This record gives sequence, structure tokens and C-alpha cells, in this order.
Amino acid sequence: MVNRNDCLNRDAADPLAPLRDQFDLPAGVIYLDGNSLGARPKAALTRATEVIAREWGKDLITSWNTAGWFHMPKRLGDRLASLIGAREGEVVVTDTTSINLFKALAAALNMQAGAAERKVIVTERSNFPTDIYMAQGLSSWLDRGYSLKLVESPEEIAAAVGADTAVLMLTHVNYRTGYQHDMAALSALARQHGALTVWDLAHSAGAVPVDLHAAGADFAIGCTYKYLNGGPGAPAFIWVPQRHQAAFTQPLSGWWGHAQPFAMAPHFAPTEGIGRALCGTQPVVSLAMVECGLDVFGQTTMAAIREKSLALTDLFIELVESRCAGHPLQLVTPREHGRRGSQASFAHPHGYAVMQALIARGVIGDYREPHIMRFGFTPLYTSFADVWDAVEILKQILDDQAYDIAAERGAVT
Ligand SMILES: *Cc1c(COP(=O)(O)O)cnc(C)c1O
Repeated sequence: MVNRNDCLNRDAADPLAPLRDQFDLPAGVIYLDGNSLGARPKAALTRATEVIAREWGKDLITSWNTAGWFHMPKRLGDRLASLIGAREGEVVVTDTTSINLFKALAAALNMQAGAAERKVIVTERSNFPTDIYMAQGLSSWLDRGYSLKLVESPEEIAAAVGADTAVLMLTHVNYRTGYQHDMAALSALARQHGALTVWDLAHSAGAVPVDLHAAGADFAIGCTYKYLNGGPGAPAFIWVPQRHQAAFTQPLSGWWGHAQPFAMAPHFAPTEGIGRALCGTQPVVSLAMVECGLDVFGQTTMAAIREKSLALTDLFIELVESRCAGHPLQLVTPREHGRRGSQASFAHPHGYAVMQALIARGVIGDYREPHIMRFGFTPLYTSFADVWDAVEILKQILDDQAYDIAAERGAVT
């Protein structure tokens, strides 16, 4: 049976442990919500001051060139590329995940427009709602007879993809359960049926190793403010592999995607390459913060992160199931490593109230309907002792029934 000392020993032997010092986390908090909003790299404060005081304050408009503002979406995209198995010139950091999904999906549907019988977008009902909403919005706005097929479980995807499928649009790691799809197998399945794939990496980038090229994916998008620690509302990313770039056209044809933006021509002509995924002027201050998160990833590897992530989630699952045995907790995250992201979710009939009690005692996870307590594990700054302490507090709350069931009425987030 593991004890707290074992956890301290694991921390002492953990090659990633020193990286925690690069993050600013409040004392007394065990932060298990980096899957929703990553912690702040200490460097972000210095960098923000530099961007605001010097680049904006003193150098003003010249900073578009002198500080490299104009090239930031591509430069950061190239840095992010290595975390997801993409190549240079294939990723830009820009806009939001929702907007990038819209662009990727529109481009994919457009590439399929020649096949009149392909009118279905296949996704999961359990997908993150904005992905479904954006697909619904785009389909109805296009008014070309597109419809969404919402499958109920990963096992149903194979049967749902067929000759009528235009696009298979999936989130690689489910935000609620932490279930991880087999990207290579599903991309191959889609390809066999002539469908294109759009992968949402919101809970994958910086969380699990991803190799988009090896998996044969067609398009991908994702967040930088979750596991990548880019800051609240930080710009998202979009990946268009070189082989699809010439055919990639998206409806948000703003001037940043123009071949010659400063020619100020009255007609749109998309630039070559990944730049055509851009729309307009980017939020420079937020973009600059993304780099501070990527700098930390530059000091390790996704393989090392994955190894620790699985060790953390294994330990958490083991401790919750042994130390909180007898309480009605049910693991909803896959036990199988290959199917698991970097989180562990447990259902409890009073999950909302228990999570509120945890948060009040400094263990920050979150709650997702129905009944699910979600705990994200971020190997860059979560320790094995954190896991022990979080479970100890959970155990006390459950043993003492120290949670307020009345608070569940009208609960929102
Ligand atoms: C977090 C998340 C989003 C967020 O989209 P925004 O446009 O940044 O609000 C989208 N999709 C998935 C799967 C997510 O997990």
C-alpha cells in the first residue's frame, strides 16, 4: 500500500519536478484544473510587462516589425508543431478553437463539395458542445443539405462512417471522460470511406503525445490555454498539412490571409501555405503569453510528460479507489493507458457538492454534468505528493459527509 512518503520519494526521483518552479501557483492550492486553464508560467509576467511597456508603450507601431508581432502566429505555430507531430509551415496560432474549427470544417466540406452524395458530418454526441454548435451553424448557414450524425459511443463510429460521410470530426481526448481515441485507426477508417478528418486537440496538445502525420490526419485544431499554459483566452491553433494547403480555402478570408496584405488590393487572393488560415489582426499581448508556455515544453519531451502523466493518473485512481472505498465513486476514465488522456474523472451522486467542498479546501478540480468530478494532471507542475494530499482531502470530505447537498440546486458551473 502506497503512503505519503512513497509519493515524496517519487517526487525526489522525478526528472520533471524542477519544472514546477517555473510556474506561479498560490500556496496551499493543489491545482488539478490545468486541463481547463493552465497555470501561469512565472515568465509570463515579465514578458507581459515587456510587451506592454516597451513594445507597445515605447516602440509603438514599429513593433509589428521590430518585435516580430506580425510573424508571431507562424513562429509560434512552428514551435507548437513539434508537440503534435506537425511540420514547419503547417501550424498557425490564431483566433479561437471554435473559429479554427469553423475554418477547418469549412475547408474540408469545400474539398468534398464535388462529391454530391457526401452530406454528413459524423461526430460524437459527447463532443465538447462548441464543436457541435459550430458544425451545426456552418451546415445550416451553407444550406447545402449537410447534416450532423451524432454517435453515442466510440464503438459506433466505424458503423457511422460511410459513402455519405464528408467529414469525421472528433475530439481526440474527451473533455469529460478523458477517453482517448485511436487517431490513426479512425483516420484510416475515414480515408477508406473517402471522408476527411478534423481532429480537435483541445485536451491533447501538451497532454498526450500526438503525431498527426503518422496518424494520417487531415486537419487539426486545438487550445493553448489548457495544457499549453498560454493564459486565459489565449489564441488557439490550426494545422493544415502541406499536402492539403493548396486546396485549403476558408470563408474568413481576411487580409492576414492575403498573398499581399499590404498591396491593399480590392480582391482576395489567398497566400500560399499555412498563412491562408489566418483572418485578421491578432491579439498580440495574448499571443506573446503563449510563447512562455511553449518555452517550458522546450525543456522536456512529450514522452517524459506522458510517462509522468500516466504515473500521476494511475496513482490518483489507485488511491481514490483504495482510500475512498465504500463511497459511491465510479471511475469514468479508461483504465487502459492507450485510451486515457491526462485526466481522471469520477462520477459521484453528489459530485457537484463534493467538488465545491474540495475547492473550498484548496483542491481545485471541476465539475461537469452529469455527476462528474474532473481532475486534470499536468506533469509540468503536479507532484505525486499533490496526488496524495488531494485524495486525503477527498477522503476526509466523503468520510465526514462534509459537503452541502443543498448547494447543488441551481448549480451552473
Ligand atoms: C476547451 C474546448 C474548446 C474551447 O473552444 P473555445 O473556442 O476556446 O471556447 C473547444 N473544443 C473542445 C473539444 C474543448 O475542449
